[in-house]
Amino acid sequence: MRTQRQVVDYSLRKRALLRELLAGRVGTYDLCDASPYLKNAARFHGESTDQRCPICRSENLTHVHYIYGDELKQSAGQARTVTELSVLAMTLREFQVFVVEVCLGCDWNHLVEQYLLGRDGLTGGESEQETPGGVAAASGAGARRRREAQR
Ligand SMILES: [Zn+2]
Repeated sequence: MRTQRQVVDYSLRKRALLRELLAGRVGTYDLCDASPYLKNAARFHGESTDQRCPICRSENLTHVHYIYGDELKQSAGQARTVTELSVLAMTLREFQVFVVEVCLGCDWNHLVEQYLLGRDGLTGGESEQETPGGVAAASGAGARRRREAQR
């Protein structure tokens, strides 16, 4: 997605966890504990992937996108589809996305990555954006011209 930034990838942690499992230091019971809420979110808002579940290898993983941020108000902490994310990314300035992979077969679940989305990412990190871009730029230029005219 265009405004995606500050990506944190958790695949190393996942590999470490799978190694622990192979070594018998943790059991599938500890790892495959997706809650009914998470599984519902996966069914209704999830994006199916072509990645096989690393545990049961019989189902493909589903990615669930959870959103957080002050601008979301009561929607914070809810799951959203990728289509809804791209709409929000053009509407809001900034919100956090957490991507969780879930297997609906064996209940394996793991945080895959997190990142920021939102219009603030469009301007390449400039901090001057209290009002929507076009309006701010236009009024800013106008103010500058007025100040110059007064001199
Ligand atoms: Zn599985």
